[in-house]
Amino acid sequence: MFESLSAKFQGAFASLRSKGRLKSDDIDEIALEIRAALLDSDVALSVVDSFIGELKSRTASVLDDLNKSTNPANAVFEIVNSLLTEILGGSARRIRLAKKPPTVILLTGLQGAGKTSLAGKLAKYLKDQGNTPLLVASDLQRPNAVTQLQVVGESIGVPVFAPEPGNGVGDPVKVAKNGLSFAQDKLHNIVIVDTAGRLGVDAELMAQAKKIRDAINPDEVLYVVDAMVGQDAVRTAQAFQEGVGFDAVVLTKLDGDARGGAALSITQVTGKPIMFAATGEKVSDFDLFHPDRMASRILGLGDIQTLAEQAKGAFDSDTAAKLETKFASGEDFTLDDFLSQLEAMKKMGSMTKLLGMLPGANSGAMKKQLEQFDEGELVKTQSIVQSMTPLERHDPKVLNGSRRSRIAKGSGRQVSDVNSLVERFTQAQKVMKQMRTGKGGIAMPPGLPNMPNLPKSPSAQLVNKKKSRSGNPAKRALES
Ligand code: GDP
Repeated sequence: MFESLSAKFQGAFASLRSKGRLKSDDIDEIALEIRAALLDSDVALSVVDSFIGELKSRTASVLDDLNKSTNPANAVFEIVNSLLTEILGGSARRIRLAKKPPTVILLTGLQGAGKTSLAGKLAKYLKDQGNTPLLVASDLQRPNAVTQLQVVGESIGVPVFAPEPGNGVGDPVKVAKNGLSFAQDKLHNIVIVDTAGRLGVDAELMAQAKKIRDAINPDEVLYVVDAMVGQDAVRTAQAFQEGVGFDAVVLTKLDGDARGGAALSITQVTGKPIMFAATGEKVSDFDLFHPDRMASRILGLGDIQTLAEQAKGAFDSDTAAKLETKFASGEDFTLDDFLSQLEAMKKMGSMTKLLGMLPGANSGAMKKQLEQFDEGELVKTQSIVQSMTPLERHDPKVLNGSRRSRIAKGSGRQVSDVNSLVERFTQAQKVMKQMRTGKGGIAMPPGLPNMPNLPKSPSAQLVNKKKSRSGNPAKRALES
């Protein structure tokens, strides 16, 4: 998502940067380019107009000052960055927990928006934070919705209240009400109620969702919207807002290749923040929505903060501390350490997604490399290391021809794969040594095969030049 918008923004700024001192004509020109890019991405016209109006008025009032700065184009870039953050909602909005538990969360939206999957993702997210959620199956309409919720609940260890079989049988209002009582009895601190959607907005759907709402008086009504739908998503959101009302939006399918118009328009049009975003079909493909981080990604600055958080979550503190001590004490980095790195990387999820958070990931060359990245490579590499004996892992120098061929057989790979892994590992080990003795540069984790070369984004260069700390967290992380 946002790829074409991102490319257009980066193109527009590249030409602005080549200009040096800026005249008001230059501002008009980039405003036109940005306007066309936003419209092309399916952003609602009213949102585009107010964005451009604001951009012009903010730059006009500081044009003289802009030209005093060492790089006026970058000052305009900062204005666009903060405007983008603003239209995406400004700051992240978290679930408001009820003073008296349980906190009741009602999910609404069209059928196929991803509500049931989202119920599971949200339950896992809240459980991981120490809550005790209960899922309630009040979508009694869509075929298999109840079973789907039960399956997802089981996979994440969250109980599901599902007294009715669904598929058109049962009263969803009664299920929601009884689910709430059940949660109170069993001391669940959060209740997530999945409701039925239709393929299009209709009066019956609205009336049912409203009845459930009135019966359980939720603390948060979340409107789940498929970001792939574009402008239609925004229109439907308005209908839901009038018919049922909601407190925040959840965007699903942000991993798709739609142009991103819904994401950029929905907060401005409905006045409600985007609270969460889902980026895939797995329960872990889900996170709090951070407007500033999303703006950074659109502008090609990457999302270092999310990347750092995911890395921190994947490396347990014991492993990290062990590696650090080893490194500091001058011990060699071994294939066992390498294996724990690979395991942590696997826990972090899709490599393509992770690398996509790096600055410049949407730029042509790197995008192509990311598209060609083989997700299975980590598993294959892991299987090679796992086929080695402890001695071989500790001292790869013992790996002669017959050992290599045994490892290749054991891992179902070719001897050339084993050779290339050993070679990459030996190089990485050398780099680690150089770093320790202060002679080296930056080492990428050695587990990354065929690592794309990371181009330096223009804005990363900007950040390096600046002495002051940026207000944008992604850029601040880059500065550090
Ligand atoms: P519901 O009718 O609103 O309950 O929709 P579902 O939860 O059944 O989701 C509809 C389809 O979208 C399913 O095939 C899901 O696996 C898929 N889906 C849901 N969220 C995402 C997402 O964030 N990304 C992708 N790629 N697919 C998703």
